[in-house]
Amino acid sequence: MPKKLEKFLKLINHLLKGHKKFLSCPWLEHGIIFDHAKHIRVCCEQSHEGKGRYILDSSFNGLWIDIDKIISEKNKQKNQVRQGVIPSCCQGCLFLKEDYWDNENYFDNILLTHWSNCNTRCIYCPAIRDNNLSDENHYNIIPILSQLFDKHLISKNARFSIAGGESTIYPEFDKLLYFLVESGISNININSSGIKYCDSIAELISKNLAEIVISLDCSSAFIYKSIKGTDTFDVVVNNIKRYIQAQQINENRVIVKFIILKGINDGIKDILEWFVFCKDLGVKKFAVDVDIAWYNEMKNDVPDYVKDMLVFIYKVCKLNSVHLDFYDRADMIFKNFKK
Ligand code: SF4
Ligand code: SF4
Repeated sequence: MPKKLEKFLKLINHLLKGHKKFLSCPWLEHGIIFDHAKHIRVCCEQSHEGKGRYILDSSFNGLWIDIDKIISEKNKQKNQVRQGVIPSCCQGCLFLKEDYWDNENYFDNILLTHWSNCNTRCIYCPAIRDNNLSDENHYNIIPILSQLFDKHLISKNARFSIAGGESTIYPEFDKLLYFLVESGISNININSSGIKYCDSIAELISKNLAEIVISLDCSSAFIYKSIKGTDTFDVVVNNIKRYIQAQQINENRVIVKFIILKGINDGIKDILEWFVFCKDLGVKKFAVDVDIAWYNEMKNDVPDYVKDMLVFIYKVCKLNSVHLDFYDRADMIFKNFKK
């Protein structure tokens, strides 16, 4: 169904049910995160004043989930919001917006980040910097998700994001992808270093059931190594090309990202060279973010040259008619100064 029609029908449905508009966010309403260290959270947003990442369950054993406890914890938060009280962890978050929100219990935004091992060592990676993370805490997520599917708690339109550490080296990775597809999910977002090529990803891209996001961050093997700590620039570039070739229905299923890092790739020349390089590879969808640690240092006084970089790449993508998403920190900077 076309998106506009779907939105219109949703609106009619809300009006018929007498719903009112109020401030909330998609994660607060229908989100869930299976995080490292067996924490179940509402969201992973953390760059705003309230610091987000509300924990729904911290005693989860990795085998079975107490769904009633999770839902009741979530409803506590939702009820606060319905009474006009924004939870302290959400204060200042840009995800909050006035909208019609329904009153049903289901999940349609699911982030799997229950793994900390990776095949590279990005200097901006919070997981790599956290000594408390250990893959001994890893668990097979499929039985837990089965529990949620069996109870009809996952919407057929749900978006599953698979991230952190490196998704493609989860022991259950391929099985997980096929399990999701067999369960009727057609919106799977895979975040990967791009070092390991997976036929399963290419297959789902070709069927328009999944997208992959790879953060290249530069256009040269030398800078790549200084950011990632591995000599795998050519491998990743080659894998990006292979995934692009798999796009048969939708040419926006391979997304290449650029994370702006202080003193490493924070010039207009850097981002332009990255754009031209990726465009020559055939990339049609781009994403930009800012290093989380640097953002936290400068968020109250973002240097003009960072804003200029964002405006520049926004215009370049527009001129070239390609899609650009600003992710978390870049989005906050861009929206704030656009105000
Ligand atoms: S912190 Fe932001 S994203 Fe997370 S639940 Fe609150 S409003 Fe939503
Ligand atoms: S690819 Fe992702 S998980 Fe791996 S080190 Fe880089 S940021 Fe961390």
